[in-house]
Amino acid sequence: MDFSKNLGNFVTNLKNVIENKIVIIGAGPAGVITSLFLSKSKIPHVLLDKAIFPRNKVCGESFAGNVFKVLDDIDPLIKKEMYEKGIVKHANHLSLYANSKSRFVFKMPSSKPAKIQASRFEFDEFLVRKASNSKYCSLMEGLSVKNVAKESESIKLLLSDKTIMNANMVVFSNGGVGSLVKNLRGEAYNVKGSQFLFARGVYKNINVVNAKSAIDFTLLKTPFNNGCYLTYLPNGNVTVGLMVEAKLLKENTNYSLEDTFIKAVKNHPYLNDVIGDSELISEIKTTSLKLGKFKKKFAGDNYLIAGDAAVPLNPVTGMGVMMAMYYGRNAANVIIDAVKKNDFSYNILRSYDAHCNKKFKSEFRKSNIYTYLQINHLNFFIWIIKQMDSNKLLEKWVNKVCFKS
Ligand SMILES: Cc1cc2nc3c(=O)[nH]c(=O)nc-3n(C[C@H](O)[C@H](O)[C@H](O)COP(=O)(O)OP(=O)(O)OC[C@H]3O[C@@H](n4cnc5c(N)ncnc54)[C@H](O)[C@@H]3O)c2cc1C
Repeated sequence: MDFSKNLGNFVTNLKNVIENKIVIIGAGPAGVITSLFLSKSKIPHVLLDKAIFPRNKVCGESFAGNVFKVLDDIDPLIKKEMYEKGIVKHANHLSLYANSKSRFVFKMPSSKPAKIQASRFEFDEFLVRKASNSKYCSLMEGLSVKNVAKESESIKLLLSDKTIMNANMVVFSNGGVGSLVKNLRGEAYNVKGSQFLFARGVYKNINVVNAKSAIDFTLLKTPFNNGCYLTYLPNGNVTVGLMVEAKLLKENTNYSLEDTFIKAVKNHPYLNDVIGDSELISEIKTTSLKLGKFKKKFAGDNYLIAGDAAVPLNPVTGMGVMMAMYYGRNAANVIIDAVKKNDFSYNILRSYDAHCNKKFKSEFRKSNIYTYLQINHLNFFIWIIKQMDSNKLLEKWVNKVCFKS
């Protein structure tokens, strides 16, 4: 491929070309876990992120407990340190509200932490610093990959400082926003679905109603179906998020996403009870994601795609961070094999593609069921959960499908 065509005007002002064998783009959960596992196997690599950490990330900030399984595989002391520093706390309750008078509090029947709460600002920062402490990881922050082009046995990356980086192996773990992998995996693999919008603010001094719950989910029926989550963070603050389908917002109101967020919090009786007298201590940050059907392709010659960059999950599943970490662990495993064989072709990397397709397909299917029930039939969903008290088989199924416990 003619690289200069892909890079357009940038190519005229290049500073220099850096050769690197392995480059991970994005130091969110997918990228940082890839890095930590590579370092564990003493494999040098570059971990690159456009942000300077700590950075904000619009997130519900409540993760599936299996996140600890992945971290324990790297080093059990990571979890211990996270607890000691007050970065994480855990809970086994969820609280749900669907326009009825009372909330339904559900205890997940797990002896291990079923849900972990953490501010992504602190959680991601902690992991990035852990990764960069290793002599095998070269962390480059504040540097964005602007464009990529496939060469015969490598991938060229154009960076925001106009440097070119040449890599035999690239992990695209750059999240669900942006289209860096579009050229590589082709049109057929783009998301066909709806655009969702998210707004999130952090509050302090809220009226805590369900202190034992990890997350408090409210389905707001008016003026259209939208979900509001409230997560109790380890430092006592609360993350409040709103998610709406872009089409519904446009059709039903003239308000901006931020105003819709403020109104939702003020006008809903339960949310107003909880948040009404509290203090908003952050900006209201927004983001968007296209969610829908995918044909999946997770690898090609000289590259792997991990985390939300591969397939973003609907946030109401609360499984995104855990899934991103699973991707990261798998990506590292296959890279270790490729390094041993000194072969970064799809021939070697196809096992990652196969593994992701086999293992993650059912996760996507389950998350779609969960998302559909939660957004469209929350009362029915709560009814099913209530039936679990007397039906152990159903209990097992719901926990497996919905809560990954
Ligand atoms: C509103 C909302 C709420 C959510 N709530 C939850 C929840 O409660 N629990 C849960 O488990 N999951 C939740 N998720 C999903 C979760 O946030 C993602 O699944 C997870 O962050 C994916 O991790 P990642 O490493 O793939 O990507 P990210 O965490 O998005 O990290 C990608 C990184 O790549 C960097 N980057 C991007 N582009 C470039 C570039 N061109 N060059 C260099 N660097 C780049 C970014 O700066 C970023 O640091 C939520 C998502 C949203 C949108």
